[in-house]
Amino acid sequence: MKKWSDYSLRTQLILVFAIIQIILFTSIFYFLTLNYREFYLQQLKTALVNDIELIRNDNNIMDNINNPEKLDAYIKEVGSNIETRITLVNKEGKVLADSSYKPELMDNHASRPEISTVMNNSSLIGVSSRKSSTLEQEMFYVAAFFNTNNQNIVIRMSKSLENINSIIRNNIYRYLVFLLILLFLSNMIVWYFSKSVIKPLNKIKKMAQEIVEGKRTTIEDVNYSNSELGNLVNEYNRLGIELDKKIERITEEKNKLSAILNSMTEGVIATDQNKKILMMNPKACKLLNIKCENIEGKNFISEIRDHRLNDYLDKVLEENKHLNTELTFKTPEKTYLECSFQTIADNNGSIVGAVMVLIDVTRLKKLEEMRKDFVANVSHELKTPLTSIKGYADTIIENKISEFETIEKFVGIISKEATRLNLLINDLLDLSKLEANYFELKPENIDYIYEKPLRILKSKAEQKNIDIINHFDDDLPLVMINKPQIENLLINLIDNAIKYNKEDGKIYLRAYQKEDKVFIEIEDTGLGIPEQDQERIFERFYRVDKARSKEIGGTGIGLSIVKHIVKGHNSEIEVKSVVEQGTCFRFYLTIAK
Ligand code: ADP
Repeated sequence: MKKWSDYSLRTQLILVFAIIQIILFTSIFYFLTLNYREFYLQQLKTALVNDIELIRNDNNIMDNINNPEKLDAYIKEVGSNIETRITLVNKEGKVLADSSYKPELMDNHASRPEISTVMNNSSLIGVSSRKSSTLEQEMFYVAAFFNTNNQNIVIRMSKSLENINSIIRNNIYRYLVFLLILLFLSNMIVWYFSKSVIKPLNKIKKMAQEIVEGKRTTIEDVNYSNSELGNLVNEYNRLGIELDKKIERITEEKNKLSAILNSMTEGVIATDQNKKILMMNPKACKLLNIKCENIEGKNFISEIRDHRLNDYLDKVLEENKHLNTELTFKTPEKTYLECSFQTIADNNGSIVGAVMVLIDVTRLKKLEEMRKDFVANVSHELKTPLTSIKGYADTIIENKISEFETIEKFVGIISKEATRLNLLINDLLDLSKLEANYFELKPENIDYIYEKPLRILKSKAEQKNIDIINHFDDDLPLVMINKPQIENLLINLIDNAIKYNKEDGKIYLRAYQKEDKVFIEIEDTGLGIPEQDQERIFERFYRVDKARSKEIGGTGIGLSIVKHIVKGHNSEIEVKSVVEQGTCFRFYLTIAK
């Protein structure tokens, strides 16, 4: 069944108003009718008492008191004349005459309330109203004592109440019609005026719905400023505007947060306590090599498919603690991820989920490995000449060698190893300077950039009878370079071209413009580099033939220095080589704007 609160405000107003009207008007009608009937009966009583007085003074009655037939006939005549029923009853209650009925057929009337009142006290007037058993209709009776010819009789006058009853009945019908019209009209008025309450309420309701649906951000003004409703609307407006501001602020915060999460270099995944994914940023998807679309709300393990992460997540959620671990993934290359897990608590401190942060430490791992290799390599490279120096020096001292030729030979070896050490340390210093410093690029002319390197390496080339042929194009444009570094680079490359060349070999130096770059090539006709080594020659200490490189004074660092200088020029270097035919190194420089 419908509850009262389920009805609309307008229906409630109309129902309450109608109920109040029905109760009020029915009560008024009831009391008015009661009064009217009372008044009518009072009037009737007075009239009937007057009639009794007339009968009392009527001599015909006294004359015929002992003649029942005449008396009855006379009473019937008088009764019909005054349109009132007249009954004469003796002191035993026997009916002597009746204007409406045959007295001999009437039962004893002593017990009738109006008559018994008079019989008990002759000075009173008996009054009563009831349905007459003789006439079968509601009657009003008035009785009084009458002493005639020493006979005590009661005169009773009565009149039908049908008249007044039918008037009241008619009044009830009229009243009901009046009430219906009144209800209709008053409810029309209520209906009309309730609009002024309902309309702004409906407007508020509609606006609230629109805010919920996100269709509206501001609330239009509702003009009911002079009433309580107006105040309510204004307060609601304020609430709406405040709400808008808050929603705007929250949206802004959310956008900021997602911008931060999207641009983060760390992967972030948040789940609820049931391990449903709440959020996953693009980096996390990339690191774990999965598709991120519509991932929110999905199950962690079914999407991420990594039992190690899932186990950690379970542990963190169960034990409410922070966990850190490093895991390797194949995505498809081997990557190392540092994963940290932390629970999320609500304001009451209860756990509502967990967040995991994934940091790609692959590069760091590789750097770490490189550093270890480097330390091992440097130690090894330094140790070899030092052992040799110490060995020869100790031999001279311990064996007290005084023979000049032997000493000269040993010191010669010591000097050679010391030179190698010096070279190595200088190269290492150069490399570390390059790694530490950022060098400035300036627009420079490179037409004669090879002059200084050639000057330095001239005698070295002549020793092997190597011919250096210059093919630099004329009028090369200015390029962005750090001149000393490019000279350093050329020294290293031409030095290698000499070192790993054959006797009477050739070296070609080329420079030419192609699109917005100037390409430089250093080609030799030397030993060449086997294909499998070509990728690794730029690594520190990497040498194709260690013994030969050492023999000809190589440190294995030259090409690392070259690679760094090229990188500092935002360029790349490539190598093409065929064993026993020769090698060509090529890099480019950017034309100055
Ligand atoms: P190194 O001091 O040993 O020359 P580099 O770093 O300059 O060290 O070169 C690394 C290795 O690359 C050399 O040991 C050599 O084996 C090879 N290499 C470099 N340049 C050439 C070249 N022009 N011809 C043949 N091999 C070369």
